[in-house]
Amino acid sequence: MPFLSDTLARVKPSPTIAVSTMAAELKAAGRDVIGLGAGEPDFDTPDNIKAAGKAAIDAGKTKYTAPDGIPELKQAICDKLARDNGLAYVPAQISVGTGGKQTLYNALVATLNVGDEVLIPAPYWVSYPDMVLLAGGTPVPIEATLEAGFKITPAQLEAAITPKTKWLIFNSPSNPTGAGYTWDELKGLCDVLLRHPHVWVMSDDMYEHLVFDDFEFCTPAQVEPKLYERTLTCNGVSKAYAMTGWRIGYAAGPEMLIAAMRKVQSQSTSNPCTISQWAAVEALNGAQGFIASNNEMFKRRRDLVVAALNGAEGITCATPDGAFYVYPSIAGCIGKTSAAGVKITNDEVFATALLEECGVAVVFGAAFGLSPNFRVSYATSEAALQEACKRIQAFCAGLK
Ligand code: PLP
Repeated sequence: MPFLSDTLARVKPSPTIAVSTMAAELKAAGRDVIGLGAGEPDFDTPDNIKAAGKAAIDAGKTKYTAPDGIPELKQAICDKLARDNGLAYVPAQISVGTGGKQTLYNALVATLNVGDEVLIPAPYWVSYPDMVLLAGGTPVPIEATLEAGFKITPAQLEAAITPKTKWLIFNSPSNPTGAGYTWDELKGLCDVLLRHPHVWVMSDDMYEHLVFDDFEFCTPAQVEPKLYERTLTCNGVSKAYAMTGWRIGYAAGPEMLIAAMRKVQSQSTSNPCTISQWAAVEALNGAQGFIASNNEMFKRRRDLVVAALNGAEGITCATPDGAFYVYPSIAGCIGKTSAAGVKITNDEVFATALLEECGVAVVFGAAFGLSPNFRVSYATSEAALQEACKRIQAFCAGLK
């Protein structure tokens, strides 16, 4: 009998973490590598937030807390949801977890039975399908193409729903494409859900604050209040507040679901890090001004990368509404051969050749469920981005 579980055999390790690890190993071996794989801001956690973490340590706030969060943080989250999203929640409807990832995972573990289907627009954040598989469910991708702006249509959603559908996972702005749904586009999807009362929506709003130009963020429970009773609104402090290592995420939804998630958490991680929870209170309650200035910087980087990639032979790159990713198509490179003699048969081969021949680390599109593409995270310096794009242009120009 094999020692490892059948469930484990169904999932794969995170490819984004694998790319970052490979790039770090090559760097450690002395290679000149530019990493565009990591999904985290390249700047430090703001000082007021760090100070709140230090103050928590000094005040002895270093013990276990309630499994799904301290009351002060739950209240700060309720205030945030009212302020930013026009959503009314009370603390009993809030679950705080160890990163956005754990809250999503808790919700899936708490609700999925074998055979339950979870709709996931593709390209998707790499962890959604594997978390669904770990929780015993069946991920069902709905393909959103470059031509469709990487967004699914109401007709596609309608066609994908079956009696076994339990959740739609919705993510706008999206990792890996940066595409954001407008109010009207989201309303179209919500109208479909209204016709299928057995389907719940898990909205992953992680990139809410990272939006550009005149794009206005919106979330399902806000766009269609009739869905409030079957929506889990998920978010976290990792990306907007440069707090990826602090590990705090949260979700808001019906009390019954939040209680179920609490049960899962109480028997797994007990509670999210106490010190990080106090830092997150400050993140949500404190000054928010730096978000706008960071966005100005991200927008400059986005524009630089989109223009440079569209200048590379065989690459087409859309301009995203938010997050800090672009998801260029390499359809024009497929079938060609690199300077080192590698035939580019798919996006994984492309990404490996780009890393080995030019020292640029990107994540291949197959990992996100839509090929042939790759994902660039532009959360790095303009100088590094300029150099990386120059290398990508040279790599593509060298394809014969
Ligand atoms: N949701 C999306 C769409 C993400 O891209 C990420 C991180 O990459 C997460 C959730 C998880 O965030 P956290 O680091 O808070 O677990």
